[in-house]
Amino acid sequence: MPSPYPSVDRISQYAVILTLTQSYGRTAVMDAIRAVLADHRADRDAQSAAPFGETEICEAVRSWLMERSTPSLRRLFNLTGTVLHTNLGRARLSQAAIDHAIMAMGEACNLEFDLETGQRGERDSLVEGLLTELTGAEAATVVNNNAAAVLLTLAGVAQKRQVVVSRGELIEIGGSFRIPDVMRSANVRLIEVGTTNRTHKADFANGIGPSTAALMKVHASNYVIQGFTAAVSEADMADVAHAHGLPLIVDLGAGSLIDLSAYGLPKEPVVADIIKAGADLVTFSGDKLLGGPQAGLIVGKKALIDRINRHPLKRALRVSKLTLAALEATLMAYRHSERLTQDLPTLRLLTRPIADIEAIAQRVQPHLSAALGPDWQVTIQPVFSQVGSGSLPIDVIPSMALVCTFAQKKSGSAFKALTARLRQLPIPIIGRVTDNSLILDLRCLEEEGDFVDQLQRLDLKPSR
Ligand SMILES: *Cc1c(COP(=O)(O)O)cnc(C)c1O
Repeated sequence: MPSPYPSVDRISQYAVILTLTQSYGRTAVMDAIRAVLADHRADRDAQSAAPFGETEICEAVRSWLMERSTPSLRRLFNLTGTVLHTNLGRARLSQAAIDHAIMAMGEACNLEFDLETGQRGERDSLVEGLLTELTGAEAATVVNNNAAAVLLTLAGVAQKRQVVVSRGELIEIGGSFRIPDVMRSANVRLIEVGTTNRTHKADFANGIGPSTAALMKVHASNYVIQGFTAAVSEADMADVAHAHGLPLIVDLGAGSLIDLSAYGLPKEPVVADIIKAGADLVTFSGDKLLGGPQAGLIVGKKALIDRINRHPLKRALRVSKLTLAALEATLMAYRHSERLTQDLPTLRLLTRPIADIEAIAQRVQPHLSAALGPDWQVTIQPVFSQVGSGSLPIDVIPSMALVCTFAQKKSGSAFKALTARLRQLPIPIIGRVTDNSLILDLRCLEEEGDFVDQLQRLDLKPSR
């Protein structure tokens, strides 16, 4: 039986297809033609085929090509209310950090070249000065993320020896980062002391033996222990460690460079305070409260940082020039503290006045209401945002949200359809769903025009 379709070669000569070939390239267009013909053939076998003349073929090829050329990694609106959302990319970079990273991407640069001596340089020295200046530490090194920082720190200073940790701090951060597992991967023997709710100074002293290499404190990032509790402060742990000639390691997780409570935000540990309290090594993330690129920062005593840098894992965990460029510009912003809450998006969003958020809510509410139609009710309500990324879940910041509820009782499938449509937009909108409402926390909405634009594309019916 003769094929009901024109040949692939013939199709490739259609005027529209020739234009598409200029945009997408011949290989992609030929793949597209074969794919749409195969799809149609399958539909025909299933007796569900639509007509397939020149116009339909060209349209099918165009949409196949367009779909394939949409990148997987896309911009979206984070309206979850969690400002530093690990699944949504954590910190957004400052313009200065973006510009500096672009320079490093496109140009040759002195990544490992000392411009003064003309000799080979060290990549970490590009940011070490800023990190020591901002934390009061003697030395600093940079790796790919804080999980890597903890792993390398342990491997560098305690390999094949013991590290003493409170049972109240044997945490899991998520994504399988668990302190006991990290210890094992670093070839370090974990010595647990104290109990889940109470650990005392003497517990640490008693946990130290001949093969102890360090004491370690882990910031309880994502949970709280309340009630009959006791933990040992960094200063007291440093006392015990130093009395035995051992270093104190502190994994801070979020670790801020400034006191956030000065901006009315929940208090988070400040790296410089932990160094002042006597910690010998402190690890923290670059893309949490710091507001920079994904990175793990290790600051502390020079002799210990030197040892860490000599460990073979350092080479495997080191960061790229993009990270260093973005980190350097981010750290430089901290020198101009009056401008910090404008320049760093993380701090700008966390400190955003509630009146601003409410004003946005007032302006966009009619657009959302119109887009959702009469089946939905859209109200403006006070909610609480979270800092996210290992800041305490009980530390919340008042915010304002658009709250969508469904008019009819049975709303489960309507919510599924709505959130799916919001995810399918050219710039997806991600909110949070509670029992029977969809909450769009507007704290992180800055590009209002683009948002309204998306709402106008929201066509709820065809997806049903
Ligand atoms: C977030 C966190 C980590 C992991 O940091 P990443 O930068 O995500 O690798 C480790 N320890 C603590 C205490 C944290 O809060």
